[in-house]
Amino acid sequence: MSDCLFCKMVTGEIAPDVVYEDDDVLAFRDINPQAPTHVLIVPKRHISTLNDLEPDDARLIGQLSLAAARVAAQEGVADAGYRTLINTNREGGQVVFHIHMHLMGGRRMGWPPG
Ligand code: 5GP
Ligand code: ZN
Repeated sequence: MSDCLFCKMVTGEIAPDVVYEDDDVLAFRDINPQAPTHVLIVPKRHISTLNDLEPDDARLIGQLSLAAARVAAQEGVADAGYRTLINTNREGGQVVFHIHMHLMGGRRMGWPPG
């Protein structure tokens, strides 16, 4: 999608601070970090929200979690712990409509989230 911010990062039109990349997934630092480690993990293929997933996307969505665990280890937060989450639509707090998993760590997370 030509007008999608995260698609532009995937194509390199905008250059994010990349921490992990493979054929299917890109992970980069959030521009407005809410924790010492705050990374966004996106599928390279555009999918707007979790509501738009098809059964064939199951592997791709799993790859986001695998990438998150890998980045958590790379960032040194795996053992202490971290949070992963995907916001969906207005009440979920989604602002960018290209699925992304937040990975946050480096501080104790509160519960419930706001
Ligand atoms: P959402 O609220 O959609 O779940 O999360 C969107 C995230 O994208 C926010 O945490 C926000 O800080 C981040 N973000 C928005 N614009 C940019 C940008 O241009 N670059 C990066 N790296 N992150 C961005
Ligand atoms: Zn996109």
